[in-house]
Amino acid sequence: MQVVSGIIKDKTAGVTSTPLSLIKSIFYTGENQMTARSVSKICVVDGCESRLIQGHGLCHVHYMRLRRTGSVQLPVRPPTVLEQPSLFWDRVRVTDSDQCWTWQDSLDYNGYGVLWMPEYKKTYRAHRVAFYLHYGHWANPVTRHTCDNPPCCNPAHLLAGTVAENNQDKVDRNRQAKGRALNVAKLTEDQVREIRKRGVLYATGSGKGSPNSQRALAAEFGVSRPIIRLILKNELWRHVT
Ligand SMILES: [Zn+2]
Ligand SMILES: [Zn+2]
Repeated sequence: MQVVSGIIKDKTAGVTSTPLSLIKSIFYTGENQMTARSVSKICVVDGCESRLIQGHGLCHVHYMRLRRTGSVQLPVRPPTVLEQPSLFWDRVRVTDSDQCWTWQDSLDYNGYGVLWMPEYKKTYRAHRVAFYLHYGHWANPVTRHTCDNPPCCNPAHLLAGTVAENNQDKVDRNRQAKGRALNVAKLTEDQVREIRKRGVLYATGSGKGSPNSQRALAAEFGVSRPIIRLILKNELWRHVT
């Protein structure tokens, strides 16, 4: 009977994290086990009014949590970046205010920084979160980069935009890319043959200033030097022999 009153006292004092072995020793010792159960049918955790599961002194929730985590209390959740923005900025290489601030963590396949947002149970793009943390509201419907640099999180390079504006950004980018492609296309097959005949892939010291250097050929044919190099390496215009 004395043990039983001890348990009841424990409950009123608030049992916060009773080790499993202690609970077992209280409830699994011969006659006391039966006496205790007949006296208290609710979980011994303070504030919990749930019925205990047979022989454990704890309700199902608290018993399973104790088994899983070693404590009947909920584990302490780490703060999120919305609660503690420094956790976000720690993952950004913050430099001068006019420079791009590169996200130092995971990137998606388009090169945008990404992070998990537990509040929304979703992965967010880092620059979008950067805008929110800096300006205090989301850039809706989309967050645009004025610097056209996907991993950049510098709030000075971010602005809210419409979907149409964002698509226009993409069109502008594509136009630049197509321009480069057109640059290659404007060479004739004869010009490609001439570049292959005159150009040298690995210039030795004296080749640098010559009219057959990659730089000179690029200027002469109006294409970039990497393109001359790719032609010489047979990675472009492969069908021309
Ligand atoms: Zn409980
Ligand atoms: Zn930038």
